[in-house]
Amino acid sequence: MAADYYEILGVSKTSTQDEIKKAYRKLARRYHPDVNKDDPGAESKFKEINEAYEVLSDPDKRRNYDTFGTAKGPAFGGGGFDDFSGFGGFEGAVGDIFDMFFGNWQNQGARTRSSAQRGSDLSLELTVDFEEAVFGAEKEVEIGRLVSCQTCGGSGLEPGTNPEACPTCRGAGEIRNEQRTVFGTFIRTAPCPKCQGTGRIITSPCKDCNGQGRKPVHEKIDVEIPAGVDDGITLKLASKGEAGLRGGRPGDLYIMVYVKPHPVFERRGVDLFCRLPITFTQAALGAEVKVPTLEGFETIKVAPGTQTGTNFKLKGKGVPSLHHKARGDILVQVVIETPRKLTEKQRQLLIDFAHESGEDVSEISSGGILGRIKDAFGPK
Ligand SMILES: [Zn+2]
Ligand SMILES: [Zn+2]
Repeated sequence: MAADYYEILGVSKTSTQDEIKKAYRKLARRYHPDVNKDDPGAESKFKEINEAYEVLSDPDKRRNYDTFGTAKGPAFGGGGFDDFSGFGGFEGAVGDIFDMFFGNWQNQGARTRSSAQRGSDLSLELTVDFEEAVFGAEKEVEIGRLVSCQTCGGSGLEPGTNPEACPTCRGAGEIRNEQRTVFGTFIRTAPCPKCQGTGRIITSPCKDCNGQGRKPVHEKIDVEIPAGVDDGITLKLASKGEAGLRGGRPGDLYIMVYVKPHPVFERRGVDLFCRLPITFTQAALGAEVKVPTLEGFETIKVAPGTQTGTNFKLKGKGVPSLHHKARGDILVQVVIETPRKLTEKQRQLLIDFAHESGEDVSEISSGGILGRIKDAFGPK
């Protein structure tokens, strides 16, 4: 039951929120049930990872967790009150801790206590095309989740029936425990574990949901991919997680977006980078060359005498910023390609060209590199 959330995520106690998020993403990706259909342990591991992340990603919950060490159900709302007996050994002075654990309950007054429990968060992965990430897209994801039961409105009660008073606490919702000591009498109250503090139990459960108040459904959900998302970003869809219990808020759905690489462009923030091969003659003589963009080709002028590695910029043809809609640029680096095969005429023209430039190309024309190696290492 007791779990070390830091250990589960493989992070240290001093980890930043960012490091925790990264570790969570990596693990969630590895143990996602959709990815691990054959591994029966993956789903529970996935749940464990999510539970750990839910606590450690929330600064308040994390502080509680750090203060009280290994989580016991009540403090974190995750495990109901089954662990309640674990607090039986507390002496009077521990009442302070008790108040911290159950402070919320006591503020609400004995009769109106609620055992509402927030629904779990869910997460899934979504892979999008490069262009979809740049320009934005409407996507659809399929997800299995628990939603509030329509038949009983989430109450878990068979329609037309009422809950009955809890026999354990006689409807009070709490259990009182008197303890006489030399300092006086201490009275401790705690929520009833049988009815989870509601004072009532369901004797006629809703047949549709077996009294759970929630039912599993398989749904398609529309996801809006905002223009400019980058690989590894997480989108949050509020309330699209699992329904809460006993009137609790629903959880959220987290979508981890992965972007397929582009065959030509490499993304650098809001800029796109590509290498453009041009010929030796284009570089020497100057030319107009076509450059790919995400919206067709554009023409750039390569000046005579352009060197390999020269950069060109197509302003505003990059990726829109998520924060302000302005687009980045396309950065084009020209690379001069040396011809691999020459016709006899081309070869002769280049030899003439070399002579004109005052270069000695006799060794090239006679395959002289071998001769030079022989000269260097002596005749054999
Ligand atoms: Zn129901
Ligand atoms: Zn009770």
